[in-house]
Amino acid sequence: MTLMHEGGCRCGAARYRVDISNATTLICHCRDCQQHLGAPFSVFSVVAAAQFTWLSPPAGRIAFGNKAERLFCAQCGTYLKWEGVDSTDEAEFNTMSLDDPNGLPVDVEIFVRSRLPWVKPLPGIPQHAAGRGDQAS
Ligand SMILES: [Zn+2]
Ligand SMILES: [Zn+2]
Repeated sequence: MTLMHEGGCRCGAARYRVDISNATTLICHCRDCQQHLGAPFSVFSVVAAAQFTWLSPPAGRIAFGNKAERLFCAQCGTYLKWEGVDSTDEAEFNTMSLDDPNGLPVDVEIFVRSRLPWVKPLPGIPQHAAGRGDQAS
């Protein structure tokens, strides 16, 4: 069963529609997320690429090395989506950009090796030192 939601940037220039019925939601504590978002961690959700559709795509793109691009609104700066060259079958979007981000509980925390000391682990949630593929502790 699909569960359609919409989201977009702070100013409304960029909008999308996404089926979050089987989304995986992650907290990422990596330094790149901390710097790019200017926040202690990022929260993003992963769905199959076909479940995510731009209604009006954002104009901003920044290359992240040669392995991905980060998409953001060029007018207001909201970070919206990560497009990895090795994960084109997936859509990874900024959970906080949903109009209603309350429906997605966190499933896993990653890159906890760079978690700030005053940010506590969520109880009962798998903790990965680095990426999703690494052993949980
Ligand atoms: Zn915007
Ligand atoms: Zn990250």
